[in-house]
Amino acid sequence: MEQLSFMTEDQARAVRREFGTPVFVYDRRTLERRAREALAFPNAFGLTVRYAMKALPTAAVLRIFSGMGLHIDASSGFEADRAMLAGIAPDHIQVTAQELPENLEALIARGVRFNACSLHQLEVYGRLFPGTEISVRINPGLGSGHSNRTNVGGPSASFGIWHEHREEILSLAAKHALRLSGMHSHIGSGTDPEIWLHCAQLSLGIAERLPEVRRLSLGGGFKVARMAVERSADLQEIGRRIRPEFEAFAQKTGRALHLEIEPGTYLTANAGALVCSVIDVVDTGKDGYTFIKVNSGMTEIARPSMYGAQHPIIVVPDRPEPRGQGHYLVVGHCCESGDILTPEPGNPEGLLQRLLTEARIGDIVVIEGAGAYCASMASKNYNSFPECAEVLLEPDGTLALIRRRQTLQQIVQNEIM
Ligand SMILES: *Cc1c(COP(=O)(O)O)cnc(C)c1O
Repeated sequence: MEQLSFMTEDQARAVRREFGTPVFVYDRRTLERRAREALAFPNAFGLTVRYAMKALPTAAVLRIFSGMGLHIDASSGFEADRAMLAGIAPDHIQVTAQELPENLEALIARGVRFNACSLHQLEVYGRLFPGTEISVRINPGLGSGHSNRTNVGGPSASFGIWHEHREEILSLAAKHALRLSGMHSHIGSGTDPEIWLHCAQLSLGIAERLPEVRRLSLGGGFKVARMAVERSADLQEIGRRIRPEFEAFAQKTGRALHLEIEPGTYLTANAGALVCSVIDVVDTGKDGYTFIKVNSGMTEIARPSMYGAQHPIIVVPDRPEPRGQGHYLVVGHCCESGDILTPEPGNPEGLLQRLLTEARIGDIVVIEGAGAYCASMASKNYNSFPECAEVLLEPDGTLALIRRRQTLQQIVQNEIM
């Protein structure tokens, strides 16, 4: 059975008493430890860590990371504005987006950096800002995602400029007198140092033929183990493998490349837990299943129903008492058969029972590994459930509300009768 990671059972009960459920709890200590690990990524000629804020964009979290020296990767113009609203300096924000921000001119005028992800984006940027610096996102022809849906490199991914289009990149840069000083390749979530090394080698090979590049981002995608049986990326090992490649590149080309990494998952995944309540326990007969229904689900965590992602699930009895165990499926509160928290690993259409503490109506259920791509990526407001609150657990045990629960009024406020 999986265990609570940063809260005690009593703390989970205190969270529910104070804030109700469902509620996300983020652990400052874990956020800071992860940020320190990323900042210690081995490098040859300097490092910038950009937090990929789409993983968890709440202002309090952006401020924690920014206060430790991390910069921001924004995946839309709105995210860049949101980071600035949280007080992040514009020149610490870089936009790497599928959709060109409508307010691109205003963002760049404020000092936000831009990473062109297609030839079209490069052309538009060049027309608006001739004679300036630019970074380009390259698809180096390889990906290493944990599933096809998280693979963001290789021929089946639309992200970045395909590596064979170098001539077009150079001629667009020349046409608009752009200084192509940055190159970026983000190929997806992985743990294998061999794949990271291979990607770094491929990227350096491309950078070699883009002679103005001084800054190389290898993106994010450092996978973390949420379940006890999974493996996490070892940043020290990956960095140690990559560093000599940057040194050899400098020897060969005379260019000391500044390294950037852009972790999202790595920084936040295991720093968050969702605390919810058991609202029902039902079964489908002796050849069927027993289901725990919680007052949450795809409205807060869509990863299981999207990817068959596995999250640790812990039943915390309403009050401390001895309990047996049972095999359960855990489902959410939406009228939707896909609202399931216990899919088969990697198969959102399959089901896999979990051995859990015996659950009763009124108990607490804690879903761990919920810091990345949960609050930010859920099916918000489906079945008209309001977005839930977020709380920060401080190292001294105090709990601070960092986002209030949405109200029904806020859900309907833009509707016109
Ligand atoms: C999403 C994203 C990341 C972060 O990916 P993780 O898997 O969360 O580390 C980094 N860079 C870019 C461009 C992204 O889109």
